[in-house]
Amino acid sequence: MQKKSKAQELWDKLCLDNKNACLRMDDEQLDEAYKFAEGYKKLMNAAKTEREAVTQTIKLAEEAGFEEYVAGKKYNAGDRFYFVNRKKAIILTVMGTQPLSEGIHLAAAHIDSPRLDLKQNPLYESNEIALFKTHYYGGIKKYQWTTIPMSLHGVIINAKGETIEVNIGEDEGDPVFCVTDLLPHLAGKQVSQKMHEAIKGEDLNILVGSRPFRDDKISNKVKLNIMKILNEKYGIVEADFISAELEAVPAFKACDVGFDRSMVGAYGQDDKVCAFTALPALLTLDKTPNKTAMLVLTDKEETGSDGNTGLNSSYLPYFISDLAKMQGFEGRNVISRTECLSADVNAAFDPNYPDVMEIRNASQINYGVVATKYTGARGKSGTSDASAEFVARVRKLLDDNNIVWQTGELGKVDAGGGGTVAQYMANLDMDVIDVGVPVLSMHAPFEITAKTDIYNAFLAFKVFFEE
Ligand code: MN
Ligand code: MN
Repeated sequence: MQKKSKAQELWDKLCLDNKNACLRMDDEQLDEAYKFAEGYKKLMNAAKTEREAVTQTIKLAEEAGFEEYVAGKKYNAGDRFYFVNRKKAIILTVMGTQPLSEGIHLAAAHIDSPRLDLKQNPLYESNEIALFKTHYYGGIKKYQWTTIPMSLHGVIINAKGETIEVNIGEDEGDPVFCVTDLLPHLAGKQVSQKMHEAIKGEDLNILVGSRPFRDDKISNKVKLNIMKILNEKYGIVEADFISAELEAVPAFKACDVGFDRSMVGAYGQDDKVCAFTALPALLTLDKTPNKTAMLVLTDKEETGSDGNTGLNSSYLPYFISDLAKMQGFEGRNVISRTECLSADVNAAFDPNYPDVMEIRNASQINYGVVATKYTGARGKSGTSDASAEFVARVRKLLDDNNIVWQTGELGKVDAGGGGTVAQYMANLDMDVIDVGVPVLSMHAPFEITAKTDIYNAFLAFKVFFEE
């Protein structure tokens, strides 16, 4: 081997040189990463909505020996339990050997993703075609949600208060649904409009049927036929939609992307890529950690974290306070000593759209898990800016454990921006930093991540929980 030049030696010593994770990880590690992605894809297919993510999480947690939390029960080091908030958010805990007054190692990811929600009065017929009215959920580019196969997920609570679960469009042979779009031949006016005006919120109506009920007299025969089918299948009447939460999401499955299969394409990777890496990290803890390890999988991040299942509500501090009380501490003292990884995605550099990124500070796929010091917009507004001390603490943790990681900033200064739950956690007086996976086409029906990044996120959460 040739001897390094003086300059090269100095460069290696003094300058930061990130390298692609595929070059930094050995073949065995890459095999592990690719294997991990198989389980990840399966979980993504089984959990497209927050309710389904909670159901799957409970199933996996119970298989791993977690029990449902019992208020007032005395828990000891090594005990594993979960607390469910209104079927749409869940907190998992592994009690550590140290008292809670030493603080918790908390990770927070969200399990809601952009989608089309049905309105409370969704079903109508127009020109002998039946459709559902929708109100989109989260930040979407509306044109992306037309002409893709969609499935319908959620619950309907009927007049008697019984819950009817809906999941249609996922199984082989199921029908799917779709928002139609104008043919290019007649779209001259449409395509000359501004992108956000070309498809309007009220245009996102989902096609659900076209066959009329056989009758000469009544009008709206297609709608009637749909209600007849829904009544036979689910036992519902039209008024039951009023007390329903039905979500239309892309019907396609998670899959490998690229000849080299180095990437995963799936709906809802923001932020289930962090939820479903942090979850196995917690479930596979084999030793009792020093600090109590906690994972919250929350709802409503995509609409700003408000509401009783979002992290801008009190459900997490209430839960921590109850645990603190069990050990004779004040909740706020435990919270103030808690360290939190806000497990959320960042925007990966996209060679198709370099203009919005500042390459020296943008995250890249295959460069590992991203630690994001601050998000926000317009001069760091609406964010928690992690302290240099806490960044140093996380930097050391990741470096000491040979985790491939990078820093990231969400786009150029003043190019736009966004937020995560980090600010709400920080506002409770925790130390917080965003740690997650870089994503291409974030918030699109089909989002892309790299398998090396997914795996390094899993490893990062694992070493954090293990401490
Ligand atoms: Mn997110
Ligand atoms: Mn998002």
